[in-house]
Amino acid sequence: MKTKYVCQLCGYEYNPRLGDIDNDIEAGTDFEDISSDWTCPLCGAGKDDFECVEVDDDDDKDYE
Ligand SMILES: [Zn+2]
Repeated sequence: MKTKYVCQLCGYEYNPRLGDIDNDIEAGTDFEDISSDWTCPLCGAGKDDFECVEVDDDDDKDYE
């Protein structure tokens, strides 16, 4: 199992492999390592509004 982080307000998924280039988050940055003032690029929610979701290693699409 691995984890990813999903915005509870809009459903945006943070992907550590891609980072968030538009907001100066380099590709490969773990969610935990993002600065605490980062916000969801889609809706502006703070990190506190993101939920850690466990996913199967080879199943990136259907994590529910
Ligand atoms: Zn969001």
